[in-house]
Amino acid sequence: MNRFEVITPSDLPGASRLLTQRGNIALAGGVDTVDLLKQEIIEPRALINLKGLSGMDGIQSDAAAGLRIGALAKLHQVANSAEVHERYAAIAEAAGTAATPQIRNLATVAGNLLQRPRCWYFRHPEVDCLKKGGLKCYAAEGLNRYHAILGGGPSYIVHPSNLAPALIAFSAKARVFGPKGDHEIDLEQFFVLPQADVLRENILQPGEIITQIIVPTPPPGTNSVYLEAREKQSFDWPLVSVAVVVESAQNRVRRALIVMGAVAPIPWRVPDAEKVLAGAKLDPAVAAHAADVALNGAKPLADNGYKVPIAKALVRRAILQAGGVQQDG
Ligand SMILES: Cc1cc2nc3c(=O)[nH]c(=O)nc-3n(C[C@H](O)[C@H](O)[C@H](O)COP(=O)(O)OP(=O)(O)OC[C@H]3O[C@@H](n4cnc5c(N)ncnc54)[C@H](O)[C@@H]3O)c2cc1C
Repeated sequence: MNRFEVITPSDLPGASRLLTQRGNIALAGGVDTVDLLKQEIIEPRALINLKGLSGMDGIQSDAAAGLRIGALAKLHQVANSAEVHERYAAIAEAAGTAATPQIRNLATVAGNLLQRPRCWYFRHPEVDCLKKGGLKCYAAEGLNRYHAILGGGPSYIVHPSNLAPALIAFSAKARVFGPKGDHEIDLEQFFVLPQADVLRENILQPGEIITQIIVPTPPPGTNSVYLEAREKQSFDWPLVSVAVVVESAQNRVRRALIVMGAVAPIPWRVPDAEKVLAGAKLDPAVAAHAADVALNGAKPLADNGYKVPIAKALVRRAILQAGGVQQDG
């Protein structure tokens, strides 16, 4: 590991200026950053510790402005917030099931969205894969049981964050401060497919810092659910996750948003499946049809075909649960 400094700026413009310098990397809870240092994936000149910045760690909610989660808020704060539970259940559930209690006490909301992929080839210090500037995605023909079934190629990573699908299902935005000033980005537009740029996972530019996540107040009649399947329950990333937000009126769905995690290189929204639900009276057959449509484009690799039936089952269950329909299994 190379030697590096840790600098703790006291204001946002100072932090942003430091982050425009090549080799300087933002540090929040440090959970992923420390792993990346140990795996020699990053070799920073300096870590710019954002935890010295004030006013970026709270959670506020009001009907007009919606929910505002500071970028430095911890996952446990989100999971245990009464406001988040009451109106944004899928977000609370996603935060509360990530990792372990110890990690949720350290890990921040922005850090969770910006964590790098878990692919074992990418994380191996001696493998020079496509995402590290090498010539080949070793997962494509190698060991790929945890890799993408949708949207893959030329790299087959999956997006690892629990929070991202739930936030996108609520049409959340990231507020970003940087050299171009303060602006908001729809989280749905924030993540980048490997086809567009294999070296990056999001559109954040040098010097840009996420300061807040803004979630609009959902219309009356909205319910949400986050479900996931894991190989082991103790600590791990999900094999598949899904967040569903359903807005209903007079026993019919007005609008539904469905976003899956851990199946594609970015959080994977499925508009065709959402269309199946719009205007429908929810029942198990409609939910099963939407779940089939959600996985229509799936192209499993040699070892990860098992993700397709798991994803279908989770999407179907999440739709029924969010729509308040009794399930028989
Ligand atoms: C055993 C284990 C199990 C896990 N299981 C799960 C799981 O089930 N689900 C899940 O979602 N995650 C899981 N994780 C990952 C963990 O949740 C993330 O590593 C953590 O959320 C990262 O947050 P952090 O604050 O520590 O980020 P850091 O490690 O500090 O930063 C991560 C990245 O974000 C950048 N960054 C951080 N904040 C900002 C900001 N405000 N603006 C700009 N850039 C910023 C950093 O530069 C870095 O690139 C697990 C981790 C471990 C070790």
